[in-house]
Amino acid sequence: MIKFVPTNGIVKSTKLDFDLLSFIFSRFVKLKRRKTLRVERSKRSYSYYYDKRKVICINTNEGTSLKFIVATLLHEVRHCMQLREECAEMNFNYTSYWNYYSSPEEKDARKFEKLATEVCKIYNQYKIIESKFKKYDLDIFKELCHNEKVDSNDLQKETNNEQQNIE
Ligand SMILES: [Zn+2]
Repeated sequence: MIKFVPTNGIVKSTKLDFDLLSFIFSRFVKLKRRKTLRVERSKRSYSYYYDKRKVICINTNEGTSLKFIVATLLHEVRHCMQLREECAEMNFNYTSYWNYYSSPEEKDARKFEKLATEVCKIYNQYKIIESKFKKYDLDIFKELCHNEKVDSNDLQKETNNEQQNIE
């Protein structure tokens, strides 16, 4: 299980739901113990993970979109996972950019980033559920408790339209 604890600054600049991201990541990021990772804006010109402080620093100058943030979180979380693997021998001391870029841990982290497309899809679909709950008052039982004549077909229509768009 993984829990992201973002700073106000990162929430403000990304407007993202880090509780939802924690939930999605927890389904496939397997760590032996529950990990709480702080997420903050990087003061440097790059994003990184600092294991000692359990913090992911994201360079928001490079981007604040869902896709960018998810890809960066995946990359940095992968470094956190790598450090807990016994086969890993990493010192993160690189003599050159090429040396860093072609290191096994960077290759592995970039591969993990590729899951961003799927994570973003789940995130967006979940947000649609939330907005439909609001739009159609699904948290109250209009028909049952208020005896209201509601046009219950609206949600059905909207869903059908979306379905057609997919097909
Ligand atoms: Zn990296």
